[in-house]
Amino acid sequence: MHCLRSSRASTLQDLMSAGVVVATSVVLESNSFRRQVCAGYEKESQTVANSILRTVGFASLVFCSTQSIAQQNPQPPAPTPVTVTEVEVKAAKPDPQIAEALKQISPEHIQATIEKLVTFKNRNTLSSNDQEMISQGLGVTAAAKWIQEELERYGQACGGCLQVKTDSFTQPVATRVPTPTPLTNVYAVLPGSDPENAKRIYLVTGHYDSRNSDTLNTKDAAPGANDDASGTAVSLECARVLSKYKFPATLIFLTVAGEEQGLDGAKHFAQMARQEGWEIQSVLNNDIVGGNTTPGELQRKDTVRVFSEGIPASAKPEEVTRIRNLGGENDSPSRELARYIRDTAETYLPQFPSTLIFRRDRFLRGGDHTAFNEEGFAGVRFTEYREDFNHQHQNVRTENGIEYGDVLKFVDFGYVGKVARMNAATLASLALAPAPPANVRIDTRGLTNNTTLTWEPSPGGLATEYEILWRDADQPYWQHAMRVPAGTASITLPISKDNVIFAMRALDTKGHASLPVVPRPSGRIDVPARTAAASSGM
Ligand SMILES: [Zn+2]
Repeated sequence: MHCLRSSRASTLQDLMSAGVVVATSVVLESNSFRRQVCAGYEKESQTVANSILRTVGFASLVFCSTQSIAQQNPQPPAPTPVTVTEVEVKAAKPDPQIAEALKQISPEHIQATIEKLVTFKNRNTLSSNDQEMISQGLGVTAAAKWIQEELERYGQACGGCLQVKTDSFTQPVATRVPTPTPLTNVYAVLPGSDPENAKRIYLVTGHYDSRNSDTLNTKDAAPGANDDASGTAVSLECARVLSKYKFPATLIFLTVAGEEQGLDGAKHFAQMARQEGWEIQSVLNNDIVGGNTTPGELQRKDTVRVFSEGIPASAKPEEVTRIRNLGGENDSPSRELARYIRDTAETYLPQFPSTLIFRRDRFLRGGDHTAFNEEGFAGVRFTEYREDFNHQHQNVRTENGIEYGDVLKFVDFGYVGKVARMNAATLASLALAPAPPANVRIDTRGLTNNTTLTWEPSPGGLATEYEILWRDADQPYWQHAMRVPAGTASITLPISKDNVIFAMRALDTKGHASLPVVPRPSGRIDVPARTAAASSGM
């Protein structure tokens, strides 16, 4: 055995042989010998040119670095794992109050909202500069005014519980914005009833602007009944119904413009929210939720798609590295929100399940949830199961017997009502639930087939229990659950974190569940590179 400690590693040949020795044999050596190798190697390596190091010393360096870290952070005594006692994964029992609220979601009211929005003829965002349209009470400006008045009416009905606001700005010139254009987002805030929990915000949105075949046209019919009066109606209907109730956390009912010009309204709102430090924990974007009804089309009316990003759009490079190394591609906050929606639909709408699509959006298309994702907020998109592109972004006309245009008759108001119920159930469940446990960590300070999770209390004081969730790494949905009392701050389970994905959520006495949080590693998170791991026998 060649010993590095006694060698002068000053020649390429010596270093190569040293590297080979370390890379191939060192895992067989005793701990004391490893320490000798490393001490010697680190001392010697200071005298060696970096270029030579990079050439032959990489595997050895990695080995020694990892050993040095281990020496600086000696492993704590291994905690004894507890016996796993599982409960049913479905945490949320139906809450009678939420069930009652859902009954008040009215397809007739949704129909009235969509019909009203269509009367503005063309809600193209650029019509805010079209004085002729404005003078006739048409276009996007008149639509915004009507939405604001409608929200104020809901606010009056609940004794002033809603704060109705606008976010107005001038959109600068861009690809689909030929001149500076006034743009207004209209929204209502239902402040949380508990000061501490009111910091948490759950938001529903749809875009009220529309377009026809020409994205710059502000005069010809652009009814946008499905895209996206339907989504706007979902947001308004949630406001109308949920404003009759009280929730510890805050709800925002948003309608934006500028979507068709480049997500302009949502981008402005999301940036404002980030800059002002709003804790928006979920964004539900409804866009094209009309359940398009075209004879002969293979539409499905028994489900709605929920799109969610895998790797967060806002993830910094080091976070992407962590996600890649630990297999976190299927567990972004947006993906956990999508799973939450699926569970909520199972509880409250068993006849109308969600269909989760594990991608950010459809091919060639985008939506306002992405504007929120890019500012670091979890957000998903609801869209009907199968779109009819003859009825989106088209001038209203008939050609060769085919009807084009996004007109009222292709919208199924009962379907929009079901989507609105799914949104309202999700918003209500989240706003009634405790905050997720804080700072959830998975112990990665040493090699073990057990898993230790640690956490800090759910802020806001609503949690009475925590729940550990896990699923096999190749499975899409949570399979297992185990509860622990609120006073606890750690648990060790005889389950290998290499084989499953873990998460934690907080529960209250009524079974309202927070969003699940996937733990972050508490120790050394990554081997520096795949080759290094292989070379050092890890
Ligand atoms: Zn749209």
